[in-house]
Amino acid sequence: MTTTVAFIGLGNMGGPMAANLVKAGYRVCAFDLSDSVLETAKSQGCDVANSAQDAVAEADYVISMLPAGKHVMGLYAEGDAPLFDSIKSSALVIDCSTIDADTARDVAAAGAEKGIGFVDAPVSGGVGGAQAGTLTFIVGGSDAQFEQAKPVLDAMGKNIFHAGDHGAGQIAKVCNNMLLSILMAGTCEAINMGVKNGLDPAVLSEIMKQSSGGNWALNVYNPYPGVMENAPASKGYQGGFQVDLMIKDLGLAMDVSQLSASPVPMGSAARSLFTFHKANGNGKLDFSSLMRFYQDNESN
Ligand code: NAD
Repeated sequence: MTTTVAFIGLGNMGGPMAANLVKAGYRVCAFDLSDSVLETAKSQGCDVANSAQDAVAEADYVISMLPAGKHVMGLYAEGDAPLFDSIKSSALVIDCSTIDADTARDVAAAGAEKGIGFVDAPVSGGVGGAQAGTLTFIVGGSDAQFEQAKPVLDAMGKNIFHAGDHGAGQIAKVCNNMLLSILMAGTCEAINMGVKNGLDPAVLSEIMKQSSGGNWALNVYNPYPGVMENAPASKGYQGGFQVDLMIKDLGLAMDVSQLSASPVPMGSAARSLFTFHKANGNGKLDFSSLMRFYQDNESN
C-alpha cells in the first residue's frame, strides 16, 4: 500500500523536499498558503489539497517546513481548527522548520495529549541539499519516533542524526548555525585582508583550504565572487540561505545562550555583523554576501 505524506510549506526548501518524496514513490498531499508554490508542487507530481486539514486526512506522515515557531504552533495546536484534531493517531508529525526548542517541546506535548507523535527534525544543507536529496536531518524525539521517521527522511537526506529527546534537534541546529555564521564571517574577513594586500582570492582560498584555516565555507561556499562557479557569491548572492533567516537563527542561539548561561561572545559578534549587513538592505541576499560588508567598509 502506498504511504501518504502530507507536506505543509512548500517554499525554497519544502518544494524540492516534497519533489524527492514523490520520486521515492510516496503519495504526497501538499498544502501551502501560496498558490504559486502549489502550482509548482503539482507539476512535480504532488496532489494539491484545499486546506491543511484536507492534506492530512489520510496521511501516514505529516511534514511541515515553515518559517518560524509561531507558524508551527499556530498550525498544529492553536486557533479554531488545530491540525492535531485532523491527524490520524497512527501518523507521525515531522517538523523540519528551524524554530525554538521550547515551541518544539510544547507542540510535541500538545500532540501527545491527542495520542499523536511529533518530532523536531530541522535540516542543514540548504536549497542545493534539498534539491539533491542530500540534506542532514537532526531529529529530536524518542527512539521509536526516530525509527518511524527515518525511512521518509532517508528519501530526502543523506545523514539522519538522532540528537536526543524533543527539542534536541533544534538545539543542535542553532549550535551548528551559530558556528556557521562565525566561520563565514571569519572567512570573509581573512579573504578581504589578503586581497587588500595584493593576493588573488582564489590562490589565497586554496592555501587556507589546505592549511589550518580550512573550513566548510572555503570547501563548498566561497564568499568571494568568481572563486567557486556554483556558489551564491558567483551569482550575485541570489538563492541560497538568506541573511534574514541567518539572523533569525542567531536570535534563537542568543535565547539558548541566555537560558543556559552559556557565553557566546563570538556568536554575539557574528549576530551584530549580520544585523549591520541587513540594515544596509541585504536581508534577502545569501548570507555569504557578508563579504560585501567588509569590502564596503574598506572603500569608506
Ligand atoms: P520559505 O519562506 O521559502 O517557505 C516557507 C513556506 O511556508 C512559504 O511557501 C509559505 O507560504 C508557507 N507557509 C507559511 N505559513 C504557512 C501556513 N500556516 N500554512 C501553510 N503554508 C505556510 O522558507 P524556506 O527557505 O523554505 O525555509 C523554511 C524553513 O527552513 C525555515 O525555518 C528556515 O529557517 C529553514 N531552513 C532554510 C534553509 C535555506 O537554505 N533556505 C536551510 C535550512 C533550514
